[in-house]
Order: sequence, then C-alpha cells, then structure tokens
Amino acid sequence: MFCGPDVAAAALLWENTRGMDRGSAELPVTPLGRSNSSIGTSWASSPAVRRNMQANRGRDTGPELQLRHLLHASGMRYKIHWPVPGDRRRRIDIAFTRRKVAVFVDGCFWHRCPTHYVAPQANATFWDTKIRGNVERDAMTTELLERNGWLVLRFWEHEEPGEAADDIRKALQERSV
Ligand SMILES: [Zn+2]
Repeated sequence: MFCGPDVAAAALLWENTRGMDRGSAELPVTPLGRSNSSIGTSWASSPAVRRNMQANRGRDTGPELQLRHLLHASGMRYKIHWPVPGDRRRRIDIAFTRRKVAVFVDGCFWHRCPTHYVAPQANATFWDTKIRGNVERDAMTTELLERNGWLVLRFWEHEEPGEAADDIRKALQERSV
C-alpha cells in the first residue's frame, strides 16, 4: 500500500488542504485514516490511468482533492460527503446545498469509465457484478437527486480539474438566476 514518499506526499497535501473544507459536515479524523494511496499522484495525466488510482475507492481521492482545491481557491464554498436527500447512506462528493448542485468525481475503475475501464481477468464474474452494481447505484443516486430538484454533475477522475471547475462555476451561475 503505502511507501515512504507516498505517505509524506499525502501528509503534506493533507496539511495544505485541511483548512479548505471548514464548515463541512465531515472532516477526516486522521490524515491517513480516510485518505489513501492515490493522494499526491497526478490527475491521470498519462494515457493509462495509474493502477493505484484505479485501485482506489476512498473518498478523498487525489482528483477530488484537486478539484476541491480549485473550487475553494476561486471562492466557492461547499459541503463534502453530504448525505443524499432520501438516502443518507449515499454521499455527494461535493455539494452546493443552497443551489442544489451535486458534484461527483467518479473513479475510472470503480465507476467503469468508458475510456479506461479494463475488466479484471481474475474473478471476472465477481468484478463484473460488483462494478455493474456500482454503475447502477450511480444512476439511481443521480435519479434520486434530480427528483429532489438537484442538478447532478459527474466527472471522471481522468478529466482536467480546471475544466471540471469551469463547468461547475457555470452551472452555479445558471442556478443562481
Ligand atoms: Zn477514465
């Protein structure tokens, strides 16, 4: 899992970003307790998404942190890991609760990105069932939110965080008029 530099990078990144979600419903209890090994890695800048990024299912993933950092730096305030109205077991990655805009940063492996998903060869049936379940749950979560008047924006972890931030900014502007 962790090697030395990753731990150091994760801790550093966490230190740099820990103040930016103040006021959120939840904050990580420990720097590494809920973080994971993809923190500090690139935003899948290489053609192939890095294996450790694919293997990562945690909430505070590198791409999500980068996006949050950009949003916060441009003055946007949001809640993280906000319970989905009507199903509190599910969480919105980045929630603008007043304007009801829900942002998800979906991992390429766990949510079956059409560009990067590669089905594991070992235990193929298990993985197929599992990943298909994730995709169905994503769709149901989106539907539930939309029924409750939310706008749902889903981004892949491989997408440019700057472009994602621009899309979110535009959506918020449209929701405010
Ligand atoms: Zn992808």
